[in-house]
Amino acid sequence: MPAPGAGIVLGWEDPCAKCEEVLQPFLDRELDEDERAEAERHLDACGYCRKRYVFEERVRMFVRQAVVEEMPPGLKAKLSALRTPL
Ligand SMILES: [Zn+2]
Repeated sequence: MPAPGAGIVLGWEDPCAKCEEVLQPFLDRELDEDERAEAERHLDACGYCRKRYVFEERVRMFVRQAVVEEMPPGLKAKLSALRTPL
């Protein structure tokens, strides 16, 4: 029985080993037809990977948008402040 609260911090279920193996190439469209079908089957069956997938897709969308759209100066300053090493 999992410890109470385990996995709740990120709102995800148990991490899945398949996730790392399948999700990145799937997101990067690097899979052939068979591998892609297998990845889709896994996403259907695995709640963890499905959430990861939705999350990663959102991150990618955000990154694409951030590149295209000019960032507000306030946010830009905030981000570069975060990047400054301590
Ligand atoms: Zn999975």
